Order: sequence, then structure tokens, then C-alpha cells
Amino acid sequence: MATVIDKPQTKVARPQVRQTQCFIGGKWVPAVSGKTFETIHPATEEVIAEVAEGDAEDIDAAVAAAREQFDGGEWSKMDARDRGILMYRLADLIEQEADELAALETLDNGKPIRDARGADIPLVIDTLRYYAGWCDKIQGATIPVRGDYFCYTRREPVGVVGQIIPWNFPALMVAWKWGPALAAGCTIVMKPAEQTPLTCLRMARLAQKAGLPDGVINVVPGYGPTAGAALVRHPGVDKIAFTGETTTAKIIQREAVETMKRCTFELGGKSPNIVFADADLDAAVDGAHFGLYFNQGQCCCAGSRLFVEERVHDEFVDRLKAKNHDRKLGDPFDPQTEQGPQVDKAQFDKILKYIGYGKQEGAKLVTGGNRHGDEGYYIEPTLFTGVTDEMKIATDEIFGPVLSVLKFKNVDEIAKRANRTNFGLAAAVWSRDIAKAHKLAAKVRAGTVWINCYDVFDAAAPFGGFKESGIGRELGEAGLQAYTESKTVTVSLS
Ligand code: ADP
Repeated sequence: MATVIDKPQTKVARPQVRQTQCFIGGKWVPAVSGKTFETIHPATEEVIAEVAEGDAEDIDAAVAAAREQFDGGEWSKMDARDRGILMYRLADLIEQEADELAALETLDNGKPIRDARGADIPLVIDTLRYYAGWCDKIQGATIPVRGDYFCYTRREPVGVVGQIIPWNFPALMVAWKWGPALAAGCTIVMKPAEQTPLTCLRMARLAQKAGLPDGVINVVPGYGPTAGAALVRHPGVDKIAFTGETTTAKIIQREAVETMKRCTFELGGKSPNIVFADADLDAAVDGAHFGLYFNQGQCCCAGSRLFVEERVHDEFVDRLKAKNHDRKLGDPFDPQTEQGPQVDKAQFDKILKYIGYGKQEGAKLVTGGNRHGDEGYYIEPTLFTGVTDEMKIATDEIFGPVLSVLKFKNVDEIAKRANRTNFGLAAAVWSRDIAKAHKLAAKVRAGTVWINCYDVFDAAAPFGGFKESGIGRELGEAGLQAYTESKTVTVSLS
């Protein structure tokens, strides 16, 4: 997510929508109920497609297909390296269709095409290739136990996994979830977000084309409290991997207790982005701007609490203000567009409500604060100063283009203030004093700390939250282990 590497110059054509049904056991089927729901283009509010609205019965069928493949099919018995070859093939097919997939993401989510092409889809490909390489490197250990025994561990796939993902990086979340699950030899039932089912369905088609056996990947589009909840409750599912809101995760964890499912959660945040006066301010201004406004502010790790050291505060705010004024909002299919619409009306309304709270609580509105244009869910890049730790805009996840600037005096107070939150997903520190930065990185209770950079992701680097920002880690080897069970085998040698 750090770099935009490809900037098409001409306006990108709208893609065709090809897959709208459930994908179960290698077949494309309508929902058992026959129901469908609309998915819309957030820039124009027009309906793009009617998508099958899966429910408990469809989840039953999908779990049965995943179960059958896992328990009796070829996937988990296949030579590990051959599983890897199929995953590389899927990554290659996605690469061949990268432009079309990016356009589909822009259509469904509203994100600018330059981000979808330059960040989301390249990261999808990279993640799948990273995990393809893991397939034949999942190893147990030999254990030196007492007595005349040979003891070793095996790492086995956890089984059928239910994966529930959000709408902010629809295709990338598919890759984060499928990559480690497939490498470990699990089979999958995925429920994409109701706002953005299209790239997930397209990727399921590409997985089929790549030759993944029927039942390995199943996709049931639908709503959370129906399809999602049915997946969480289903006794045939061994693990739930969820990305979304903390409040939803709490519901899921309560439900999952009944069947003792393994759960991993990647949740919300209110990440502190801390700028010291001795930082490279050019880089820090860019990092603060990108760290919040990227993806319309719809990032779980958005640097939404910007702490700026008093001495440079006013200059810093002036520079951020100028950047906000220059930011190009518009048609997400235009390659020059830097900011598109929010994903839907509910998010749009929520963000405007929080802007209202900011004003009521006495923060100073420096830029933005309003809807942009009169069509689509656009919100101006909004900047508040004079924000204090207790204001709602400093405590709650807004998930929109609203940046709260807080002043601080010195290093002693900042760790405490940075940690004054129930979240703990990410943080950043900007300083030329690298010892000070490392010391602060150790004190901040967050799963990721960036020093002199922001939003630098890599498939090999674990990501996840402390506190109410999550349980477990995604990406890297840690992300893979979360899809395995350890089995201890002890053999008598006497
Ligand atoms: P957001 O506000 O970002 O949409 P949610 O946590 O509501 O975050 O949604 C993330 C994902 O969780 C979506 O796929 C949604 O359909 C699903 N979801 C929502 N509620 C539930 C639920 N009760 N059980 C299972 N999944 C749910």
C-alpha cells in the first residue's frame, strides 16, 4: 500500500461484471431462496449488478462442499509443492487480468483506479506468490523427550475455514485470507462484504481456471447477520478468520465459543501518528497525509490521531492544509483522481455525523467538513486542529477522510497519550533521532509501528492488533501458523 507504481494516463473503461452467483463445490449457483441484492457504484449510486443473496442454506451447501473436499478430496493429500504450483498459477491468472480486476474493484468499491492498479492488485499477486512458496516449507520439529521415545510434531491444516471480509480492500482481503489457508491445505468458505462482492467472485472464477479442485474455495455472498452468522455457527467449520469492526468481532467470538472454533480477528484502530520537531518534515507531512487520506480514510490502520510536537505544529498544519486543498477528488476511473467516494451511504452519513461531533466539541475545522459535489458519497478531505484526547473524533474510529491533529510537548507525555485507547493496531513515529524513535516504538502498544514511513505492508511482515484491534496475526509465517494445528506424535523405541 505504500507506493503507487502504475499510473495509466487515459480514462479506464468500465469492466464487465461476469460472476454474480454463489460459487459452491465448483458450480455457480443462485441462492437457494432465489433472493438477490444490489451492489452499487459509490461514485454515481447506480446499481451495477444483482448478486445472489446467500443465507444459512447456501452456507450449509458450501460447508458441505468444503468439508467433503477436506475430508476425502485430493487437496490436503496433494504433494505440498503441487499445491504451491496451483497457487502460483492463480497468481499468474490474476496478473494477466490485473487491469480488469482493478477496474472491477474501482467499480464496486469506488476507490481511485490508480490505487486499485498501483497498490491493491499488485499486493494481491504478491501475497498469493509469497504463500505459494510456503506450501512445501511447513515443518514440524523433533522433540528431545525423556525416556526411550521418538517424539515429533506435525503441522496439519486446521480444516474447513470460514472467512469473513470487509469492503475497504476487497480483493486484497481475499488474498490475505486465501493465501495462508491454501498454503496450509485448508478448504474455504468465504463471505465477502455485501458492499463489494464482485472481485472476490471473479477471483473464485480464476481459481477454478487455475485448476484448484472443486470445493477448495467456496464463496457465498450475502449479509453479515444472515450468511455471516450462519458460517460462524456452523458445526462443520473449524476456524473463523474475520476482518471488520470490533463490535462485530465480539458477536462472532461469543457465537464461535459454542463449537470452540479457532478465531483470528483483524479489527479497527485509532492509530497514533507521532511527529517530533526533529523529523524530516517534508517526509512527515507526506506520511501524515497519505497515512490518513489513502483509500478515502477507509483503512483500519489509518493514522487518525496525528500528534505533532508543539514547536512545529503550526507550520505542519499549514502544509497539511495546502495538501488537502490540492487533493484531486473525482471520477475514480480517471487516473488523475486521488480520492474517490466513500463506499456507501451508511459510511458517508457516519463520517458527516463525526464531523458534526468535532465541531460541537470545539475542535477547529481547518479544511473540508462537507460533502463534495452532489452525486456519489464524496466527502472533502477534512482536517481538525485543537483536538483533545477525550473528544469523540480522537477516540472513535471514523473510517473516513477526517484527520484529528493533537499537540504534544515532549517525549515523556507522548507514549502515555498514544496508548490512551482501547485499540492497538498501528502507530508511527517520525524523528531523525533514531534511538528516541526505537524507544517509543517499544512503548507503544500496537501490532505494527512504522518509523519514518506509513502504511508499508509486505506479505512477509506480520500484521494485527493489540487490545481490541484483534487476535492473532495475518501475513508472514505467523499468518500461516494460524491455519495449522500442531500434532505431537510419540513413538516407543523400546
Ligand atoms: P463494516 O462496518 O466495515 O462493514 P462489519 O464488521 O460490519 O464492518 O463487516 C465486516 C464483515 O462482517 C462483512 O462481510 C459483514 O457482512 C460481516 N458481518 C457483519 N455482521 C456479522 C455477523 N453478525 N456475523 C458474521 N459476519 C458479520
